[in-house]
Amino acid sequence: MSTNATHERLALLGGEKTIMTPFKRYNSIGVEEVQAAKQVVESGVLSQFLGCWDPDFYGGPKVQEFERACEAHFGVKHAITVNSWTSGLIAAVGAIGIEPGDEIIVSPWTMCASATAILHWNAIPVFADIEANTFCLNPKSVEANITPYTKAIMAVDIFGHSADMEALMAIARKHGLKVISDTAQAPGAMYKGKYAGTLADIGGYSLNYHKHIHTGEGGILVTDDDDLAERMRLIRNHAEAVVGDKGVTDLRNMVGYNFRLGEIECAIGIEQLKKLKTLVAARRHAAERLTKGLANLPGLRTPVVMADCTHSYYIYPLILDIKQLGVARARICEALAAEGVGLSPGYQNVHLLPMYQQKIAYGSRGFPWTSDICHRDVDYAKGICPVAEELHESTYLGLEMCVHELSGQDIDLIVMAFAKVWNQMESLR
Ligand SMILES: *Cc1c(COP(=O)(O)O)cnc(C)c1O
Repeated sequence: MSTNATHERLALLGGEKTIMTPFKRYNSIGVEEVQAAKQVVESGVLSQFLGCWDPDFYGGPKVQEFERACEAHFGVKHAITVNSWTSGLIAAVGAIGIEPGDEIIVSPWTMCASATAILHWNAIPVFADIEANTFCLNPKSVEANITPYTKAIMAVDIFGHSADMEALMAIARKHGLKVISDTAQAPGAMYKGKYAGTLADIGGYSLNYHKHIHTGEGGILVTDDDDLAERMRLIRNHAEAVVGDKGVTDLRNMVGYNFRLGEIECAIGIEQLKKLKTLVAARRHAAERLTKGLANLPGLRTPVVMADCTHSYYIYPLILDIKQLGVARARICEALAAEGVGLSPGYQNVHLLPMYQQKIAYGSRGFPWTSDICHRDVDYAKGICPVAEELHESTYLGLEMCVHELSGQDIDLIVMAFAKVWNQMESLR
């Protein structure tokens, strides 16, 4: 394409496409992981967990090695591997001693599991609104949603940027609440000198195949609290069969699962963890180049990074000023897609999912909301989270950096496609 390419006819209107070949898929798995997995397979020990009070209650050698490596990396007292981060969130909510009917305040702008983990223990998710700059929980909205039944806050470090943990922890301490941090999308992001995910009572990361580092499926819980750590290990591995022999007397939520991660995954995880810093740095480098290229387009807001924070860019979030642009998001997305730029228009609002709208979860009769364990009629109506809802409906656009590995040249092409569409916004009106 010539330098005047941005003035050529839009691909949507029959012109030449800016990006002719699809970008390379993101793949962090290399020879190191192959070798590590091979060694485990050859050893014949693919898992070594026992669901009873025994030295093997804590899992085999690779589970141990990976957990100790995560503790050293993230600077936490305990790292606990689980077979998915969804499992991790369930273990975390159980471990804090949640009672049926207790309320946990959570962001609506997240993957559904952040909220489902709450419901799982028959506790009630309460959705607070988010901040327009970071897309994470707005501390003021959190405080406004606290009731006598609130037990905890579930902060989500969405897209790769930490929630405002200082403010959220202050609110939690003031009201005697626990804080769980869903940092699935932000491993390696920093918040005031500490790793995102390590500032809450319990935090953790997903190891599913979309995430920065992965083991196919998996998750890591992190905490500095000995008691919470042990309770999560119990929930991970058939708690009810272990508590008697282990001498555990607090039986609250000692309902166990099999949330155990295998030896192969942990061996791969050890290699992946060594690459995390480099992978996040590469993502950040790519995002900064993109931000520089898009900075001067009117009506387009590039990602905000708060002071003393770093972003890990699971997704590169953009905001459109629809009034200024005078074109609907769907039309802009269509034009960019025709140029070869794949963007996700919007991110679900969890409170608007059918389960919450109809309050049908366990069985058909509205449990837990309609049962007497629920203290009040919790509102999930459209309108309770205006910031998250507006983003979803009309202004947000996300570039999924977790899907493709973007070279400098790829980014320059993306910038060119945006410039072309922006130059000719008139033709889309
Ligand atoms: C990926 C993700 C999860 C779930 O993690 P899994 O390992 O897939 O179970 C939860 N919350 C957020 C914000 C996520 O991005």
